[in-house]
Amino acid sequence: MIPVRDDLRALEGYHSPQVDVRVRLNTNESPVPPPAAWRDAFAAELSRVEWHRYPDRSASALRAAIAAWHGVDPAQVFAANGSNEVLQTVLLTYAGPGRTVATFEPTYQLHGHIARITGATVVEGERAADFTLDPDEVRRVVESARPHVTFLCSPNNPTGVVEPPERLDELVALAPGLVVVDEAYAQFADWSALDRVDDDVPMAVVRTFSKTWSMAASRLGYLVGPRWLVAELEKVVLPYHLDAAKQIAGRLALDFVDDMDDRVAGIVAERARISDAMAGLDVEVFPSGANFVLIRPRSMGGHDLWQALLDRDVLVRDCSSWPRLDDCLRVTVGTPDENDAFLTALAGALSEVHA
Ligand SMILES: *Cc1c(COP(=O)(O)O)cnc(C)c1O
Repeated sequence: MIPVRDDLRALEGYHSPQVDVRVRLNTNESPVPPPAAWRDAFAAELSRVEWHRYPDRSASALRAAIAAWHGVDPAQVFAANGSNEVLQTVLLTYAGPGRTVATFEPTYQLHGHIARITGATVVEGERAADFTLDPDEVRRVVESARPHVTFLCSPNNPTGVVEPPERLDELVALAPGLVVVDEAYAQFADWSALDRVDDDVPMAVVRTFSKTWSMAASRLGYLVGPRWLVAELEKVVLPYHLDAAKQIAGRLALDFVDDMDDRVAGIVAERARISDAMAGLDVEVFPSGANFVLIRPRSMGGHDLWQALLDRDVLVRDCSSWPRLDDCLRVTVGTPDENDAFLTALAGALSEVHA
């Protein structure tokens, strides 16, 4: 064995078990595949790809389609292999050794994880017990750490909390560096930071095709931000990183915005239904603006509940051992049938304790 970089020695890998079960509600994917018409159009275009040539390096058709949808300029759009590669490129460009990145915990684990891999120092601010963000804590962290990059995840994963727009505005006014708003779940919430994107504001919004768009298998995400930021990211990312098939997949997906909106509305309705149903059970249910709900059982351990659900063929995300999330489980909203199966399993698991 050859030793890795000193600063990586203590690092643990990203862990999310892929278990074979009947009802899989653990990774916040869409419960349904993309429309059949999308698959047909994709197959037809794939047959015309010039496979011996490199793909369009600037992904111009894809970026133009994303830009048209959001009403921005294509020069304000940076696309990559999942929003994780977007985040990595931002951090390679603006974090790295000797620089500081701020997060507000608990939040998406990969913000801090990728930042550490680039060699940056991560400063963790704390959320309140109900997982909301206190403006005084934001001020304390930003003024003491002077971060080069500050993350805000809204709706926040894994808590579901939607930050009020004022919180972002305060942060942007205070932060000395770049503010990155991770909006992986924005379509499920009631506001987006997209209309605040401006060349004079050091703030960028990151989105993904993995959740709302039913395209997790495709690995496609993007950023909307100032033109100068996009130009810097293009210098850092590997040339030809977006393959031809992915560029086609994403561009064609944007022909199905109405279908996507319908799915989002269905999931939001199901989120309300399962949240209401759980309110009658012995669990704490945190309000969510995303396609998942965080819960905490009142009279049994979180990990025990996770196992009891798995015994009933339902897989959810076990956050019970994560810092600040004692006994919490995160449940992705599925199809109505999957949600019924989950509710039945949950009621069964909870009543077993009292038996
Ligand atoms: C799921 C998720 C992503 C998505 O990552 P991809 O690489 O696009 O699949 C990004 N941010 C958050 C907060 C997420 O929950």
